[in-house]
Amino acid sequence: MKKQDELVFLPLGGSGEIGMNFNAYGYGPEHDRKWIVVDCGVMFGRETSTPGVDVIMPDIGWLAEQRDNVLGIVATHAHEDHIGAIAPLWPMLRCPVYATPFTARLIEGKLEEAGLLGKVKLREVPVGGKLKLGPFALDFISITHSILEPNLLAIRTPLGVVAHTGDWKLDADPLLGEKTDEAAISKLGDEGVLAVVCDSTNALNPGASGSEIGVRDNLIKLVGTLKGRVAIAAFASNVARLDSAARAAMANGRRLCLVGRSMHKMVDAARETGYLRDLPPLANEEDAAELPPHKVLYLVTGSQGEPRAALARIAENNHPGVFLERGDSVVFSSRVIPGNEIGIFALMNKLAGRGIEVITADAHDVHVSGHPAQGELRQMYQWLRPQIAIPVHGEMRHMTEHARLAKSLQVPEALVPANGQLYRLAPGHAELIDEVPSGRMHMDGRILVAEGEGLAKARRAMAFAGLIVVTLVLDGKGRVAAETGLLTEGMPGSVEDAVREAVDEAARRHNPKKSDAEELRETVRRAARRAAQDAWGKKPVTRVTVIEL
Ligand SMILES: [Zn+2]
Ligand SMILES: [Zn+2]
Repeated sequence: MKKQDELVFLPLGGSGEIGMNFNAYGYGPEHDRKWIVVDCGVMFGRETSTPGVDVIMPDIGWLAEQRDNVLGIVATHAHEDHIGAIAPLWPMLRCPVYATPFTARLIEGKLEEAGLLGKVKLREVPVGGKLKLGPFALDFISITHSILEPNLLAIRTPLGVVAHTGDWKLDADPLLGEKTDEAAISKLGDEGVLAVVCDSTNALNPGASGSEIGVRDNLIKLVGTLKGRVAIAAFASNVARLDSAARAAMANGRRLCLVGRSMHKMVDAARETGYLRDLPPLANEEDAAELPPHKVLYLVTGSQGEPRAALARIAENNHPGVFLERGDSVVFSSRVIPGNEIGIFALMNKLAGRGIEVITADAHDVHVSGHPAQGELRQMYQWLRPQIAIPVHGEMRHMTEHARLAKSLQVPEALVPANGQLYRLAPGHAELIDEVPSGRMHMDGRILVAEGEGLAKARRAMAFAGLIVVTLVLDGKGRVAAETGLLTEGMPGSVEDAVREAVDEAARRHNPKKSDAEELRETVRRAARRAAQDAWGKKPVTRVTVIEL
């Protein structure tokens, strides 16, 4: 350890928002820091706010400029908000990627799809294993969540230990995979923890999140009461839930059939890494369709109302392999993620309208969250007793409540971080020392664009009030030489008429001695927008091109 060495924390995604987690830790003197990245995830675009954008990820340009000092990306677990951006952002960092086997298998699949498989050094760390990256020594400590192999990372440096929790809950019986290594966590606390960087998702919820074993029991009971075909909608990544669905099927004389590409991907990854060894044989869609209705249980993707997922297509009755009808049931073994209400309720309405019974998780306790409620957070702080609490993985309201809770538990300092802010972590104190360029990137079709380029914003504007395109032709002397071209999209005919009149009038008034082509373009643009505003109360996106002969 040199005198100028410092330990810094830089979130570039996932602070102040749920999604696209990207946390960097730096060590060394200010001008020669070595970095590790913990998680590299996406969040999903919304048709309303980012039309045409499927996924959003952090802008990591600042870190990419010093990629020779980035020693690796370490994934805590395999959820999309933690690994979804590895393939698209890896070309900017070109560093090795580390993960436990199940997570590594899923990353591998993504790299393969992106054509990066041979290029990326993807290294498996055993469950409960260790990893040395320059000045950082990491322990992977098993914890529980809603996916296989979630890890709390103990990040050891010469200046202290950071416990980076990743996503977690305390589930005494997670059904599959390791239990929380409570001994390792409390031992870490005994050694002394400088800072805890911790999941805030459920910091507003009192109590505890509940166990997968309870969900399993309730699913078995619930399926026993249902008569026709049953479809359970759940997140594909929750492999324990999938195993529970298999047991609910078996206990009730039904066969399980998985529907949706991501379900099969998860089962394959789990099997290849040693899980689900005693899963009963699955029925494929053809076999399931031949079974009597009371003999089949489907497990389907699309619980969030995603329009292209299996459940949406089943509800529309245009799924190629699965048919539901009056007397059948759909069980939502999932929660409504805030923001997805409209899509989910539309889906439920469609099912109900066709006489299919819709059963929600709340009514039968067939879902538990994978994130810590206040009781679990309390336990974590009792184990770790850090000098500094840093809530991440939450919106501002979650993180501030988490910070308040940490303070109430005698943590001396709680820091609510923001993306792009660089903090120095020193004994008993976290200090903001710099701000680096940050923001979001949109995966727009196949192209990664900066949010600041405004493509989604432009599409939103067109969605609100349509588009006007005017073409003017000027002769060599700058006079209007031909009839003005006008194209519009998405506006009532009467508005188009008013716009045409205004544009023609502005073109007729053009005097080449008084104004040039550029001024004419601006005059026409304003006239078109004003006419639309007067006739309609809205200002469309307006483009004017001037062709000079
Ligand atoms: Zn997460
Ligand atoms: Zn997660």
